[in-house]
Amino acid sequence: MTVDTIKATDEIVSCSDNGQHPLVYINLKDGKGKCQYCGQSFELTNTNPSKAH
Ligand SMILES: [Zn+2]
Repeated sequence: MTVDTIKATDEIVSCSDNGQHPLVYINLKDGKGKCQYCGQSFELTNTNPSKAH
């Protein structure tokens, strides 16, 4: 079984595993995160350097 890490450009990503579990939002403020339901990994990629906090 291969688990791919999804690259995200936003700090908040949503996952429902194609409807297999309730829609959840995962905060990637630490740079990466994992769905608590299906274990899908997400990684934050900074593609918007002009966006200042
Ligand atoms: Zn999930």
